[in-house]
Amino acid sequence: MTVLVPTMGALHKGHQALIKRARELDKEVVVSIFVNPLQFSDTADLEKYPRTPETDIQIATLAGATQVWFPTYEEIYPNDPIQISAGAVGDLYEGATRPGHFAGVLTVVNRLFEIVKPSAAVFGEKDFQQLWLVKRHFKKIEIVSVPTVREFDGLALSSRNVRLTESDRAAASIISKALQEPNRMHEILATEPAFKLDYAEIIDEKTFQLASATTQNKRAIIAGWVNGVRLLDNAVVESNS
Ligand code: AMP
Repeated sequence: MTVLVPTMGALHKGHQALIKRARELDKEVVVSIFVNPLQFSDTADLEKYPRTPETDIQIATLAGATQVWFPTYEEIYPNDPIQISAGAVGDLYEGATRPGHFAGVLTVVNRLFEIVKPSAAVFGEKDFQQLWLVKRHFKKIEIVSVPTVREFDGLALSSRNVRLTESDRAAASIISKALQEPNRMHEILATEPAFKLDYAEIIDEKTFQLASATTQNKRAIIAGWVNGVRLLDNAVVESNS
């Protein structure tokens, strides 16, 4: 059987962790590298998305990929794609700021699954809402998740981080600092003028609705921009906090 690791390339240590986990699950690991236009509402963001195919092959192979697959648009979408709805949760948070994003994600994941027919697929907790929606939508394939890989200062690795200058990088570390104190997130984020907040909330992991006093499993989710670069992150909220 095969394990699939879907990515958009510009691979980093976060992707490597996914590939290593996939290799623990099976000896056939396909890494797909496809920048899916359907999940971008902003064409400038799509055009600016970093593309590093040569190093991607090296990184993926070193991490244990047995196949690095760069599908063409026609391979993925031979016909006009019928978009899969992401439902009401797909319109919240990331979906509110990026309309149609999660329908685009589910549509491409569905096509990748149809073509590769994996027994399992590995996704990062970094994109927690994506992981949540993928788990809810695809019941016949085992969805395995991997914790977020971070820089020394806590910043979650992301392909978009290459667009940050050194001072942007320093400002971006406010996100992981805020996640460490979920009850003071807004206050902490407000101390960094370069960080432009989109949302910072504590949600119920079961429903993806705002957490209440009785919620068992809570997660803090944050997104915003530093110098026009969109950043997102999340962390478990311990029940005693
Ligand atoms: P992307 O190439 O950004 O679409 O990401 C491909 C996969 O890698 C997704 O499942 C992401 O959640 C995951 N991923 C991205 N960044 C990280 C990270 N820092 N740690 C762990 N997984 C990640």
